[in-house]
Amino acid sequence: MNIVLLGAPGAGKGTQAAFIKERYGLAHISTGDIFRANIKGGTPIGKVAKSYIDAGKLVPDEVTCELVKDRLLNGELGAGFMLDGFPRNIFQAKELDTFAKVDLCVNIDVDKSLLMDRICGRRMCSCGATYHVSTLDGATTCAKCGKPLYRRDDDNPETVEARLNTYAAQTAPLVDYYAAQGKLCTVNGGAGSPEQVFAAIAAELDKYVK
Ligand code: AMP
Repeated sequence: MNIVLLGAPGAGKGTQAAFIKERYGLAHISTGDIFRANIKGGTPIGKVAKSYIDAGKLVPDEVTCELVKDRLLNGELGAGFMLDGFPRNIFQAKELDTFAKVDLCVNIDVDKSLLMDRICGRRMCSCGATYHVSTLDGATTCAKCGKPLYRRDDDNPETVEARLNTYAAQTAPLVDYYAAQGKLCTVNGGAGSPEQVFAAIAAELDKYVK
C-alpha cells in the first residue's frame, strides 16, 4: 500500500505518520525531514533548501522530485511507502505519477484557526517526539528520551504565516487532484486526540490492506 499524507503545516502529519508506520510497516518518507538533515549536514541540497525553508516557500520542484524519486526507486520500502510533505503542488503530483503508484491520499483536515497555535507552540525532540508547550508544564526535555526539546527554525509566526499561504495556494489543490482519481479520503484532524484521529485513518487504511 502506497499512501500520500496531505495536510497543512500543523495538521498532525508527522504524528499520524508515526502511528501509521508502526501499524502498517510503511516506509515514512518526509521531504521536510530530508531537507533538515541536509541542512544540518551542510550538503549542497541543504544549502539550496535553507533559504526557501526559512522564507516559508517551496524548495524548487526539480530538487525535490529528484530526491523523492531516488528514495522511492533505490531505498527500502517495507510494505509500501507513506509520503509526508510530498507532493506539495500539482506539478509534483504529476511527476510522482510517472515513477510510482499512489493507492490512497489521506487528507488530514484542520481548521486554519487551530494551525497557527499548534505550530507556534510546537516543540520537537530529535527522537521524533513532538509536544505542545501548553502540555509541557515548563518541561524543557523529552519525556520519552530525556533529550532537550527545541523549536523548529521555521515554526515562528512570520514563517508560519508564509507556510500557510503557500499551502493554500499550491498544496490545497491536491485535494481535488486526488478526489478526481477516486483516491482521496479526508479525516478531521482538529477534533479529538491523536489516537482518535489515527482510529479514523486506520478505518480507511484497513479497507486497503484486507
Ligand atoms: P515540512 O517539514 O513538511 O513542514 O517541510 C518544511 C519545509 O521544507 C517546507 O516549508 C518547504 O520549504 C520544504 N519542503 C518540504 N517538502 C517539500 C516539497 N515537497 N516541495 C518543496 N518544498 C518542500
